[in-house]
Amino acid sequence: MKTLDKSRVNYAESQAFLAGGVSSSLRSAMKPVPLFAAAGSGPRISDVDGNEYIDYLLGYGPLLLGHSNPAITDSIHAALKCGTTFGLQHTGEFELARRLTEALPCAEQVVLSGSGTEAVMLALRLARAYNGKRKIVRFHGHYHGWADSIFTSFPSSDMRQFGSVLDSDNQIFPGTEGQSQQALEDILLLPWNDSAALEETLRRYGHEIAAVISEPVMCNSGCILPKPGYLELMRKLTEELDIVMILDEVITGFRLSLGGAHGKFGLKPDLVTIGKALGGGIAISAVAGRKELMELVGNGTVSHLGTLNGNCIATSAALATISELSKAGGAVYEQLEQTAVRLVEGIRRLLVKHGIAGIINQAGPVFHMMFTDELKVEDFASFNKRDAARYTEFAAGLLEEGVLVRSNGLWYVSTAHGDQEIDETLSAMDRALNTLRG
Ligand code: PLP
Repeated sequence: MKTLDKSRVNYAESQAFLAGGVSSSLRSAMKPVPLFAAAGSGPRISDVDGNEYIDYLLGYGPLLLGHSNPAITDSIHAALKCGTTFGLQHTGEFELARRLTEALPCAEQVVLSGSGTEAVMLALRLARAYNGKRKIVRFHGHYHGWADSIFTSFPSSDMRQFGSVLDSDNQIFPGTEGQSQQALEDILLLPWNDSAALEETLRRYGHEIAAVISEPVMCNSGCILPKPGYLELMRKLTEELDIVMILDEVITGFRLSLGGAHGKFGLKPDLVTIGKALGGGIAISAVAGRKELMELVGNGTVSHLGTLNGNCIATSAALATISELSKAGGAVYEQLEQTAVRLVEGIRRLLVKHGIAGIINQAGPVFHMMFTDELKVEDFASFNKRDAARYTEFAAGLLEEGVLVRSNGLWYVSTAHGDQEIDETLSAMDRALNTLRG
């Protein structure tokens, strides 16, 4: 058995001073104990007890280039020599904005923010200011951050649940105690990947709907790809009915391709939100999109604030990330795809070997592994039939074998993961599946 004594002691001490002992609610779900990290390098991370793990948590997604990527750390060190934040403009902001408009097909202009949650808040505000309508359509099982006006129907098995997210009368429940029910009054919650439900709702309430917000791939609930034509229908209807289409690319932006999921799928939403991979582990996010909308910030109609927005540490990390990802015409994405496919196919073979029913949905370097008797997981209803508790137990077993994964089944792969890590991971998984009960 691995020794996790120091993590346990730290966690106990932490709970005395830091509410809950963790800095983000999801982290408390980790079994057998929320780990305390010592250092990360490339695809590996070590904890305070001296254990080393191959890391597929990757900071919940930002570390697309692995831990301590030299290009990113060098760029941050260089920026640090001049200071951290100025409250004045610096050239890194518009250089980054220019790079973003070059990379993201829908981006004519860009606004920089600090987190995915803030980017989503701004995108919703821009939409409402643009067309003067109020309602927002969002989908069961998607996650768009934890702001009061959007936090609902997030079925994470690694977080406490409030209310039922699939209530039959479609009542919308706050995601947490303390959240205003009224803040959710303008939300219309729909099943995703259901073209008929989308068309019916948009045609019926389009005169009241400011925006439709959607993850382009339902990464937060099963890594489910859009059905052919679904996002295209969303684009067509929103255009026709004067509704702003927002793709929340906080996970998929820069992870699926340099142009995000919308670049990969050949779509042009009105706005996208990006975060996570953009900063390579430093807090930064962006809203990008059509000039007509973005100009509402530019001309002062819509307020966008934030003391640390566009600070030079964050922009230097993002610029380094984009230039690393742009190398050799984006060849890095082929490598990421190959690594992920090799891993996923290996896991599928192991599930068959151990006679364990499971499904893995993959979208480039992110995939969701589920224990389920379903033949396919293509929507939120089938996703909810997975055995989440069994997976959490399995994640703890993998940790014991030296592989760090998120306890809800979502795996991230980085450019730093190579054949050696995949081989080691598959051997570890073989052992972990052997000891999995039931
Ligand atoms: N949108 C999506 C799709 C996300 O997955 C997340 C976070 O996981 C967010 C928004 C919120 O981002 P942040 O945690 O940076 O506030």
